[in-house]
Amino acid sequence: MPIVRRRASKQSAIARGLKRRCPACGHGRAFAGYLRQVDDCANCGEHLGHIRADDFPPYLTIFLVGHLIVPTLLLVEQNYQWPVSVHMVVWPALTLVLALIFLPLLKGGVLGYMWSIGMTGREVQGRG
Ligand SMILES: [Zn+2]
Repeated sequence: MPIVRRRASKQSAIARGLKRRCPACGHGRAFAGYLRQVDDCANCGEHLGHIRADDFPPYLTIFLVGHLIVPTLLLVEQNYQWPVSVHMVVWPALTLVLALIFLPLLKGGVLGYMWSIGMTGREVQGRG
């Protein structure tokens, strides 16, 4: 009788991915570096290296960080009189830091989602 692995739900796969963990087991690391995925989970052996998220994580990062920075900038601008030089330092630096924080987390979430629906990222080219 073949071994049938129970697939995690989309929600738990995304949550595990957001924690940069394997979407299948939630214990093994999904990333070997900042953005480089492992080929296989060290814990459960699930193959993850073939999943290509491509531009979606950066898109989500830009969307999220933009929606955090712009309202905050406008709120600060309306309520405080910061010198322009302070604005020119604070907002680009905060944008960069937030983007660097969110990008690997969102890539993990996208990886988890793609894994949960059996998507590899090569479907459009027909090689998947
Ligand atoms: Zn695993």
